[in-house]
Amino acid sequence: MKRPGATHLECTWTGHTIPSEQLVGLSEAGKPLFARYDLDAIKATFTPEAVAHRRADLWRYAEVLPVRDSASRVCLGEGWTPLLDAPRTARRLGLARVWVKDEGQNPTGSFKARGLCLAVSRALELGASAVALPSAGNAGSAAAAYGAAAGLPVHVVVPKDTPIPILEEISALGADLQLIDGLITDCGAIVRRGVEEHGWFDLSTLKEPYRVEGKKTMAYELHEQLGGRLPDAIVYPTGGGTGLIGMWKAFDEMEALGWIGVERPKMFTVQADGCAPVVRAWETGAESAEPWQNATTYAAGLRVPSAVGDFLMLRALRASGGGAVAVSDAAMAEAVQWIGADTGVFAAPEGGATAVAVPRLLELGLLVPSDEVVLFNTGSGLKYVGMSPSN
Ligand SMILES: *Cc1c(COP(=O)(O)O)cnc(C)c1O
Repeated sequence: MKRPGATHLECTWTGHTIPSEQLVGLSEAGKPLFARYDLDAIKATFTPEAVAHRRADLWRYAEVLPVRDSASRVCLGEGWTPLLDAPRTARRLGLARVWVKDEGQNPTGSFKARGLCLAVSRALELGASAVALPSAGNAGSAAAAYGAAAGLPVHVVVPKDTPIPILEEISALGADLQLIDGLITDCGAIVRRGVEEHGWFDLSTLKEPYRVEGKKTMAYELHEQLGGRLPDAIVYPTGGGTGLIGMWKAFDEMEALGWIGVERPKMFTVQADGCAPVVRAWETGAESAEPWQNATTYAAGLRVPSAVGDFLMLRALRASGGGAVAVSDAAMAEAVQWIGADTGVFAAPEGGATAVAVPRLLELGLLVPSDEVVLFNTGSGLKYVGMSPSN
């Protein structure tokens, strides 16, 4: 079956538009591109009621996804993860209500599956012959999985101290894996060389338009799983920011579709003390973030010293009345323990970080005790077995 897909792509910096049905990376201005849809045309039929009985994965939101031909959908069971009520965690943190969105239940054990599912499906649809990306770990294994399912060669470049379970996973999924003595930014340089020399298509965070489309489905799910409303606040462990930016984009779409009004959840970024470029930019009132020197944290997903979507994250944090805080690795590790005992979810350190942030956000008055809050557990703790906190 064929769907209309996106109508065009729009530069998030200049607003300049280009056609969507071609393989493309950043805009002419070197900024991320957003896919736009004819929301007026689908408004009458794409309703919460229509979606309610659809398949239990992110393809239930097909009208606001860019893949046109269902033969190009690469599916491994991504999305539609549980939103778990966590009353003991709420009591412990002094909040009216807490839910854990358990993204560890995605294929390859992290929410990277959502983004890479869409990016690989579109790369396949638009004729890429090989894909590549630098990764702090989880994006690499998700790309490897979707590339394998699509029959596309995948090249992954990661720091050599990436958690071993993730390295084994990438290899087992058949990707070409390169280990680098450096950070994700150094891995990016290797990928750029492969793009120039071998014509690989670059799937780096926000450097192609569709990972963000996969991640935005988290916002549609929250609305649906809460029975047609949004929480007061979302606490999100932030690296490249795809999920935060994607959910913020989805809220605008949902408003244009008539699913919600002008209200928005307060959006909070949590980063690690050893790598907190977005927190620093938020605190200083900057519009973009300076690269972080000597990034260290065992929460691999947060070890992102600079992000091309920094200005989009900062806009969302500010427009929502949210904010950003940094937490220590030791506190994340401790939170993983009590979240597990409270909820039955073995969280990734990034998930632990969200709970550590809550008391700080209450202290700062950015959260209040009556708030109903979603904590994002972005990955499974199983992927970090054997890793210890860096600070
Ligand atoms: C990549 C990753 C993050 C950060 O996600 P972004 O949307 O890129 O900010 C957080 N947690 C885990 C487990 C990750 O793999």
